[in-house]
Amino acid sequence: MNAHAAIRPPLTVLLASPRGFCAGVDRAIQIVERAIEKFGAPVYVRHEIVHNRHVVDRLKAMGAIFVEEIDEAPADRPMIFSAHGVPKSVPAAAKAREMLYLDATCPLVSKVHVEAQRHFEAGREIVLIGHAGHPEVIGTMGQLPEGTVTLIETVEDVATWTPKDASNAAFVTQTTLSVDDTTEIIEALRARFPGIAAPHKEDICYATTNRQEAVKHLAEGTDLVLVVGSKNSSNSVRLVEVALKGGAKDARLIDDVTGLDFAWLNGASRVGLTAGASAPEALVQGVIDALSERYEVTVEEVAPALETVTFKLPRILTA
Ligand code: SF4
Repeated sequence: MNAHAAIRPPLTVLLASPRGFCAGVDRAIQIVERAIEKFGAPVYVRHEIVHNRHVVDRLKAMGAIFVEEIDEAPADRPMIFSAHGVPKSVPAAAKAREMLYLDATCPLVSKVHVEAQRHFEAGREIVLIGHAGHPEVIGTMGQLPEGTVTLIETVEDVATWTPKDASNAAFVTQTTLSVDDTTEIIEALRARFPGIAAPHKEDICYATTNRQEAVKHLAEGTDLVLVVGSKNSSNSVRLVEVALKGGAKDARLIDDVTGLDFAWLNGASRVGLTAGASAPEALVQGVIDALSERYEVTVEEVAPALETVTFKLPRILTA
């Protein structure tokens, strides 16, 4: 044992599992990689393919160009839509420009689009529980004519929603919300509109649910929970909130190890560590390595759920 190791204080790192990439993110990244392989660079991507700077920078280096609208790209290059989904007007515009486009929308987001469409066809008034301005919310609302979906963000919003026919309402949700906060909003909706049509199966996706569950298991009594993820990643931000609600004394969102402030660890002996669904595992390992330089780290995995979900790639990329 060297002299430094002898004076390093002990630190238990409770490592959440599952953490990091989900099947939808993995698929979206592979779609960009395979499209570059198949069609050559550049390929264009509408919006960040997933909300993570490291992922975006890596794909840029491979030949992806990120734009916010499709008319920023030439019509003769492939266009990829991000994992968050797009309003119907976007593929329609790509078709009108005769562009080759690939849709990396997560199948679990597409499922919500189908549900919203089904409610609309059944003549129901629809509320979407979600966060204003998030691309997934814009995409889901954009499946239906303007004004036919009302966004609800809080329990308070439920009280002010006045459908024309209260007996014929339905709700859908964003996939990356807080499970507990959404349950409260749904309870409020059900209390006001007892017959409101609900999703067959929870819209909040398995990955969001499992990552929140794992954080809940480790949060109580921890001095600090570190969540690796970007600020615009909805599910990563939710993990910080879940950690604090679950009893962590402190919780912080960091893009990577460079965002780690060791002052947060003063007096800490138990630290939780997880990553949002769009954060690469190498960034988590980077944090463990940095902690190991200053502490005698013991890693304990907290794994309340096992994930085996995978999604198929579009045929054009596998043929
Ligand atoms: Fe799909 Fe959920 Fe991953 Fe979003 S977080 S890409 S909805 S699996």
